[in-house]
Amino acid sequence: MTTTVPAAEVADLLRTLIRNRCVNDGTPDSGHEHRSAATLTSYLGEPEARFEPHPGRVSALWRVPGTRPGAPRLLLLGHTDVVPVSEAGWSVDPFEAVERDGFIWGRGAVDMLNQTASMAAVMRRHLTGEAPPLPGDLLFLAVADEEAGGKLGAGHLTEHHWEQVASEYVLTEIGAPMLAGAEGPGLPVTTAEKGPHWRVVRARGVPGHGSQPYGTANALVPLADAIARLGDAPMPVLISDEWRAFVEAWAPGPALAARLLDPDLIDGAVEDLAADDPGFARWVHACTHLTVSPNTLHAGVKANVVPDAAEAEVDVRLLPGQETSDLLDHFRKVLGPDAVDDLEIVEVESSVAGGSAPEGPLWEAIGDALEAVAGHRRMLPTLIPVATDARYFRRRGSVAYGTAVFDDRVGFGDLLSMFHGHDERVSEASLGLTADHLARTVARFGELTEA
Ligand SMILES: [Zn+2]
Repeated sequence: MTTTVPAAEVADLLRTLIRNRCVNDGTPDSGHEHRSAATLTSYLGEPEARFEPHPGRVSALWRVPGTRPGAPRLLLLGHTDVVPVSEAGWSVDPFEAVERDGFIWGRGAVDMLNQTASMAAVMRRHLTGEAPPLPGDLLFLAVADEEAGGKLGAGHLTEHHWEQVASEYVLTEIGAPMLAGAEGPGLPVTTAEKGPHWRVVRARGVPGHGSQPYGTANALVPLADAIARLGDAPMPVLISDEWRAFVEAWAPGPALAARLLDPDLIDGAVEDLAADDPGFARWVHACTHLTVSPNTLHAGVKANVVPDAAEAEVDVRLLPGQETSDLLDHFRKVLGPDAVDDLEIVEVESSVAGGSAPEGPLWEAIGDALEAVAGHRRMLPTLIPVATDARYFRRRGSVAYGTAVFDDRVGFGDLLSMFHGHDERVSEASLGLTADHLARTVARFGELTEA
């Protein structure tokens, strides 16, 4: 039997989490996740543990002990931080949690305060005894700092407090709406993610007077040239096993499927998709290419001084099966070997892509829950281009998936465009569906892991 969670209760909690404004701008003093940890403490009661590796950066852990020693643990992992907004692009105040047309609008509405609120609502049923304990421990972890890489959140916890947060199975982000296929709609369930490989690219020169540029070694010019090339060059294609599994499960029709799986036809297919659905096209491109995005550029001090240093940060994402050598090969090919040797390329972050196989009790539990909620159990094992906290747990051997259920008022591509974008919003009906799906998944996981 599954207890039900009223959508209005999840919506109330979500509104408070949005208003808490836990904006993580990447600096240690931002985030202020202690606010949402306090909100969740008043909703759930005192946590088993609070972690605060830097003042204000609070993660909190709740647990319902299992009934059978040694049974697999299940962790509900939600982050409470959000990315900054550029307010001018929003139709509403992004931190007021305005309700309009059945939607709650605000930063974090789909990334991922909707899921964090749903997880908390399900956990509450288990903490109060309204829903029975599972064979293994059930954990809920509200973490800080996901949006800046998790070093003050999941990264810290899995490194320094593993014995407390250890779990064989993890449910986390991302959740996305159903995709229509030839055999009917299918639910994307995140099973794998690309690996972020951030690099600082630096050029050196010699300072001089800007009035006499002849023959000077200006650091900005070669760097700007390199960045323009990296941004413009076609990015290398790779059709991974993960992408193949997704397309085969989605079954978008034989003609499109064939193009999406052929390295020579994929770029044309992306271009055609972009005409109707740019958000979806961007995502398909990212799931089938090593991507390179130069995102910052710093050089010079003054209009009349030739700059002696210039640097840019470049966000490279590698697919499963690709390595650092693929990144360097691409840089060499695009910039030429001499330019690569003249520039300094410094590693900032290198995480290999990772994933969990779509099989086993948690996968089956998600399918059974989906059948009860949506009337079918078509799940699409999904590779995502973004990095999430799942990677810290997968490295420790956990099986981690991301799932949520949405009503059909926002399509897949439109939802993807809301992540870190303007006018992020989620319908109250979707909150109810996600909480129901999650409650059923947890209950079913319990049944499937009985002795
Ligand atoms: Zn997120």
